[in-house]
Amino acid sequence: MTQVAEPRSAGGGAQLGEPVNHWIGGRRVAGTSSRRGPVYNPATGRLAREVDFASAEEVDAAVRAAKDAFPGWRSTSLSRRTEILFRIRNLVDQHRGDLAGLLTAEHGKVTSDALGEVARGIENLEFACGIPNLLKGGFSEQVSTGVDVYQIRQPLGVAAGITPFNFPAMVPMWMFANAIACGNTFVLKPSEKDPSASVFMAGLLKEAGLPDGVFNVVHGDKVAVDRILEHPDIRAVSFVGSTPIARYIYETGTRNGKRVQALGGAKNHMVVLPDADIDMAADAAVSAAYGSAGERCMAISVVVAVGNVADPLVAAIKQRLPKIQVGPGSEAGVEMGPLVTREHRDKVASYLDKGREQGASIVADGRDHPLFKGDGFFLGVSLIDNVTPQMDSYRNEIFGPVLEVIRVPTYTDAVNLVNDNPYGNGTAIFTRDGGAARQFQFEAEAGMVGINVPIPVPVAYYSFGGWKSSLFGDLHMYGPEGIQFYTRGKVVTSRWPDPGSSKVDLGFPRTR
Ligand code: NAD
Repeated sequence: MTQVAEPRSAGGGAQLGEPVNHWIGGRRVAGTSSRRGPVYNPATGRLAREVDFASAEEVDAAVRAAKDAFPGWRSTSLSRRTEILFRIRNLVDQHRGDLAGLLTAEHGKVTSDALGEVARGIENLEFACGIPNLLKGGFSEQVSTGVDVYQIRQPLGVAAGITPFNFPAMVPMWMFANAIACGNTFVLKPSEKDPSASVFMAGLLKEAGLPDGVFNVVHGDKVAVDRILEHPDIRAVSFVGSTPIARYIYETGTRNGKRVQALGGAKNHMVVLPDADIDMAADAAVSAAYGSAGERCMAISVVVAVGNVADPLVAAIKQRLPKIQVGPGSEAGVEMGPLVTREHRDKVASYLDKGREQGASIVADGRDHPLFKGDGFFLGVSLIDNVTPQMDSYRNEIFGPVLEVIRVPTYTDAVNLVNDNPYGNGTAIFTRDGGAARQFQFEAEAGMVGINVPIPVPVAYYSFGGWKSSLFGDLHMYGPEGIQFYTRGKVVTSRWPDPGSSKVDLGFPRTR
């Protein structure tokens, strides 16, 4: 079993208590902007350290390092790049426990969940190790007499990634694994709430032999993000975060001529048909709603109970709630940790009052948990029944351990509810009827669909992304679409004629 270490090197070498620095050109660089943000330990509520916030000039320095490293990296052979990627994969694997420790310390998620996050991130490194195969182009011989045509895919240059707080290791790996495998250089702006994992990974990339400047990290807020969005040397921006910011990133980045993929928020529905196995559906709903304290973009936040399944299903969910162990993520046996900040915890809890005021039934109120009154950012599990689409708790992404139940009479009402929702990240159906499941897969307006699978996160050799307000841009993240995003195609038409047969011909190029 993987050992989980105490976070020994927060900030890529900084001791606990020191600020988390940037990583530029292969080394830690202390911030000079005199602006910093707080990083809390959510389980204790105490300030653990601060993080440097980059000025526009510091972002420029990171982009310059990445731009300078690009010509050397893009001309590094595929076999050498692959060798380095394998070493990165092995180092991250060796340090699973260290990374997981950082995630628990700054995000709050429980150790098993943190290890799961690292494991899913490693899958992306493993996919990127296949880069020689992934970059193979097509070749057509003799398209015209003596003429061959072939396609190659080339890197874009400097790419940037802007990532959310809820997966501080995995989401950066979704991006940088493929970006650097394709020959790009990279500037990461991680979430300022839990920034240490990104700098820790930067140290591992260097140890693996990645040339200095290929991977850089700048921390910060809107100042850093806005500079990324306007920097003329950044060719592409990958973003994962909330919908309003995703929309802003997409609109601003594309206006500035960049390729942008911006993944936004979610409201994931789990439809339960009357023929479903109630215990299995209840287990799945509880796991998918409260895992990682509901701070997952693929968490189930709404159960859509169809017909007479509602009463037994709500009863089965309710029965499971008191058994969920809530506490500090590093403690053995704990299943659900705190939320990331006090402010976020209180915002999540506020939807319980709104739900009650607007006529929903509060079946379980997470504020009744004894840890709610402590210093950590804890909220117990909450269940709200008889929710309607007009209520605030349904109309907003809550992003916490709050599960809502909407009761509908028919399958068609359930599908209409899913499809009328502005978000379209993931959705799931629980049923024993293959025909109904297939119909749901056919008509559900969401990018990722689960059939008796509540959290259908694609494996690394497919791509991840939602529809509607859950994604701005054309290409999903990681997997084959990730390779497409981080490269551009070039088609070469080639002829090696006998100089003796050369002549002027002003006609339209022919293929026969
Ligand atoms: P967020 O949108 O607040 O922040 C994401 C990133 O944007 C951070 O790096 C942050 O520093 C930056 N940012 C925040 N405000 C900004 C502003 N005004 N201008 C410029 N940059 C800004 O998201 P979060 O709270 O860190 O993460 C949770 C959200 O992310 C949820 O909505 C969740 O659904 C979403 N999410 C989506 C996916 C997905 O794949 N679709 C995955 C994970 C998380």
